[in-house]
Amino acid sequence: MIREPEYFSKLFENMISMVTDPEYFDRGQFVDLLSEICNYFGIAKGVTEFYRSPAHEKIGDGEILVDFDNGRGERILHKRRFITRTSAIIQGTLYVSNDEPPLSAEDMRRVDLVLRALLSFVSRNRLQRTVEQLAFHDEFGYRNIRFFMRNLWVLQERDQLNGYCAARYNLQHFSLVNRDVGRAAGDAIIRTHYQHIQELVGNSGLVCRMGGDNFLALFKTDVLNDVIDALRGIPVNLPDNPVARVMIRATAGVYVLPDGYEFDTTDDIMDKVMSAAAEAKNGSESIVFYDDNMGCRKDEMLRIQSKFKDALEKQEFCAHYQPKVDIMTGEIVGAEALCRWHHDGSLVFPARFIPVLEQNSDICLLDMYMLDTVCRDIRRWLDEGRKAVKVSVNLSRKNLMDLDLLTHIKEVIDRHGVPHEYIEIELTETTSFVEFDNLRRIVCGLSEAGISTSVDDFGMGYSSLNLLREIPWSVIKIDRCFLPGDGDSSACSDIMFRHMVSMALELGFECIAEGVETTAQIELLRANKCRLAQGFIFDRPLPSDEFERKLAGFRYDI
Ligand code: C2E
Ligand code: MG
Ligand code: MG
Repeated sequence: MIREPEYFSKLFENMISMVTDPEYFDRGQFVDLLSEICNYFGIAKGVTEFYRSPAHEKIGDGEILVDFDNGRGERILHKRRFITRTSAIIQGTLYVSNDEPPLSAEDMRRVDLVLRALLSFVSRNRLQRTVEQLAFHDEFGYRNIRFFMRNLWVLQERDQLNGYCAARYNLQHFSLVNRDVGRAAGDAIIRTHYQHIQELVGNSGLVCRMGGDNFLALFKTDVLNDVIDALRGIPVNLPDNPVARVMIRATAGVYVLPDGYEFDTTDDIMDKVMSAAAEAKNGSESIVFYDDNMGCRKDEMLRIQSKFKDALEKQEFCAHYQPKVDIMTGEIVGAEALCRWHHDGSLVFPARFIPVLEQNSDICLLDMYMLDTVCRDIRRWLDEGRKAVKVSVNLSRKNLMDLDLLTHIKEVIDRHGVPHEYIEIELTETTSFVEFDNLRRIVCGLSEAGISTSVDDFGMGYSSLNLLREIPWSVIKIDRCFLPGDGDSSACSDIMFRHMVSMALELGFECIAEGVETTAQIELLRANKCRLAQGFIFDRPLPSDEFERKLAGFRYDI
């Protein structure tokens, strides 16, 4: 058979163009070209094999590609094997039929050239894929944050960002799920959940794992509602158990990219979904959409955080006292210390700075400062022979992480020589088991030291009644949202309030209603034997000198 060298040159040149230019490469055309080359040399079959390492080759874990096969390959014509610098193995074998006449030395040289070019192309491709797998996936095979970023860039490059949303979500209380079902089942649940969201976002979207139970998703606005529904809660089957299911809920921050949106760096999108997600985690809404005010809130947060230490040193924080009143006698029987910040000539309320300080442990410094201030005031009242009452001090749950909290509290109180019965520590309900254990430990310790404790905003959190059964509180403070208001005609809130009070009293706790504003509410408290009340109907939190004047013998007219 006569083989035209010019024809070979043309085929080979074509091949080289294809394998060296990713834009020019077309899989179908490449296969056709290889067939043509094989036909040119009378080759019946061509096989390439790729193994990531000799160990992978040993167990046959690799990729075997049959590049061409006309069914007549009977003996090996030529074979090439390379070991790359990363120990990957790439091998190519060419077969001919038994009756195929031998090739000239020149043709064999050309065959070898083609095979080497092919192997170098395949190995580069496979290695690139391996590198991508390692770079864009985590050790469990989930797509990682680099994958997310890369796709953002690709979409922007192609001018296709319009109509996309980004979300960052966290599976709620997943440590409890792990605890209940075991780590292995927990991992399987995470994977099922991930696949479910991946299916929802479809081919135009993607989900990636940031680590643990934190994820990022990018998807078209058309599926936004479906994704949000799923994040609010979907039942996921336990592995190997078709009947048992757990409800997986997530908190999420979502950013709907505005039309024509462009970024300079992907940090912009990340910052936005992160701040929305932080609000979702700390606030009452489990799904929060980013809006531009969040940026301002973030700026303000940074401002407060940067000013805090200095303000604490300059004693800009002070305690205002809100009286607690015995509604049978109108007498002030206690007070709650509430923090106020005198800053730049104005009075800043806790709603502005407490949530910010709770983002890190600054709040613990403030709480101890408040306890110190209160103890100093009580000591002064006692020393000056004034009437003194028990004062409650709010302690953020952040303090529960401090193993020496009990010692710190006692140290402050004892430093001022304040008898323990003058102090009450207010703590709110907890959200996790770990916190619950710490809470129990602290409350037990305080109670042993003769320091009262109260559960603040009772009924607002998600704790079970174990909170009352297992923790020896002194006082239950019923949150004002359980107190039927003026225009509140619902019998339900009446019934709930009545039963909360009677349960608290029967269990032997003191009971105080917070946020009392009307005489009708006072009547209701009386009817339900809730003797203690605190609220604007008596007084707002008062500066210490004003409170001291009231304390001396004043009775509310009720
Ligand atoms: P809280 O401990 O539940 O305190 C009661 C809040 O309800 C106070 O708001 C009080 O002014 C307000 N309040 C009292 N009576 C009424 C009423 O009749 N109607 C209405 N609508 N509100 C009433 P404030 O002082 O703005 O404090 C808000 C929250 O900030 C407190 O809620 C507490 O959780 C936190 N906080 C205040 N001071 C401190 C502190 O020193 N440390 C910590 N960790 N938290 C504090
Ligand atoms: Mg309180
Ligand atoms: Mg409260």
